[in-house]
Amino acid sequence: MDPPHIYVERTLAIIKPDAVHKAEEIEDIILRSGFAILQKRRVHLTPEQASDFYAEHYGKLFFASLVAYMSSGPVIALVIAKDQAISYWRELIGPTNTIKARQTHPDCLRAIYGTDDQRNALHGSESFTASEREIRFFFPDSIIEPVPVGQASKD
Ligand code: ADP
Ligand code: MG
Repeated sequence: MDPPHIYVERTLAIIKPDAVHKAEEIEDIILRSGFAILQKRRVHLTPEQASDFYAEHYGKLFFASLVAYMSSGPVIALVIAKDQAISYWRELIGPTNTIKARQTHPDCLRAIYGTDDQRNALHGSESFTASEREIRFFFPDSIIEPVPVGQASKD
């Protein structure tokens, strides 16, 4: 009999340019928070790629500086997995604006590793649809096969 399949949610995390020097520390926190890191890639986005990634914000006042920030140095993209990964990772990184986050959520990762209202150290997908698009954006060739629970002890 086939073992049962258990599906675990995944999401895209990005360590943004202002926090890449703290990547090891942040990855350690990710693991200690119960996530598995499924995929990881360090990449220096071009302005075109950064615009594409943040296309939903096209036309906003901060769009040009957001693109400049996200293409100012390498980022580390991570596919991370856990039960309710999308909402849990968003909760862990905290509010968008680092300055406000420091007042209301001083323990969140953006409060700790962010710089200002824009350079907020970390990204997290906002929804299932966004996570699928964003994972494909950074890992276009990946096919993730779920590992059935109990496989290790099958025979
Ligand atoms: P989040 O990253 O929390 O999902 P948004 O999707 O609203 O936030 O914005 C994307 C990114 O654009 C933010 O993480 C931040 O770097 C930047 N940003 C958002 N709002 C502003 C703003 N008002 N001024 C400057 N930068 C902003
Ligand atoms: Mg967003």
